[in-house]
Amino acid sequence: MTEFGFIDRIKDLFATLPDNGFEGIGDDCAVLPVGGGESLVFTTDMLAEGVHFLRTATSARGLGRKSLAVNLSDVASMGARPIATLLSLSLPDDATGAWAEEFMQGYRELSQEFGVTLAGGDTTRSAAGITINVTAIGRAADTHIKRRSGARPGDVIFTAGALGASGAGLRDILAGRYDTPAAAIHRNPRPQVAEGLWLGRRHEVHAMMDISDGLASDIRHIMERSGVGAAIDTERIPAAADADIRTAACAGEDYVLLLTAECADAERLAADFLARFGAPLHPVGRITDGRELEWFENGTLRPLDWHGFTHY
Ligand code: ADP
Ligand code: MG
Repeated sequence: MTEFGFIDRIKDLFATLPDNGFEGIGDDCAVLPVGGGESLVFTTDMLAEGVHFLRTATSARGLGRKSLAVNLSDVASMGARPIATLLSLSLPDDATGAWAEEFMQGYRELSQEFGVTLAGGDTTRSAAGITINVTAIGRAADTHIKRRSGARPGDVIFTAGALGASGAGLRDILAGRYDTPAAAIHRNPRPQVAEGLWLGRRHEVHAMMDISDGLASDIRHIMERSGVGAAIDTERIPAAADADIRTAACAGEDYVLLLTAECADAERLAADFLARFGAPLHPVGRITDGRELEWFENGTLRPLDWHGFTHY
């Protein structure tokens, strides 16, 4: 079974249980309206040694930062402000002491940068390998929350940064080149927290998520949840230095925001974003009223079978 087949199975299995006010499974965060026009959002992500990181290629401090960063990215992608986290660690005997101290220093650094409280967690011994689980909690005005399900035909699709640096960095790391600029980006992604909050307040932004599994995979989540299609102009995909277009479209872990916006307001949105952040929103395509994902190259439809990560 694929990762997404399994998640569908989980959804079905729990569909008849009470929701207690939560929106269902399927977005970057679970949403709980708490009254007063506000909602809390919840997300959790796991990092497993040998699957998501190699201890030889990542410092404990860097891993502390990254394990928090990927969760802050999911909160930001809802248009919410991260407020607190819970941290669970399963540590083998050779990763306690100095390793654990260094990990917590990294986790603390990024917590401080984004003003996030560590509210609790769990610590256990592991028989094999390090496992890290972070749960992040955010809050937002109900009207600012952006979902994967909001895309409408005609919307412009934007990415809020360049793509593929993390994938190029992973390629370098697997080839034993740990010191390249791309490898540094792969180890230390910057969650777009301020950008997510700003985009959350813009009513012309209809749908948003973060790109963790590659544009080619994640745009399909917006399509499925919104019941729409998408057309991507490959020549407009903003490939990072060191990344080719295919890496930019298909490699994961960029943690760049992916959004769709009302066509008539898209240019002004991009201009305001540029003025606010000094970096462009990149228009990469448009939402269509079909169900297909189409790849164009300079206006010509290309039969590309591009897919992102499925890590399961
Ligand atoms: P993200 O990449 O943003 O972390 P995913 O695409 O991995 O999100 O997950 C898709 C959806 O499935 C999310 O809403 C997530 O909460 C849910 N999900 C994933 N695994 C499980 C699980 N074991 N039990 C319940 N929900 C899950
Ligand atoms: Mg996400």
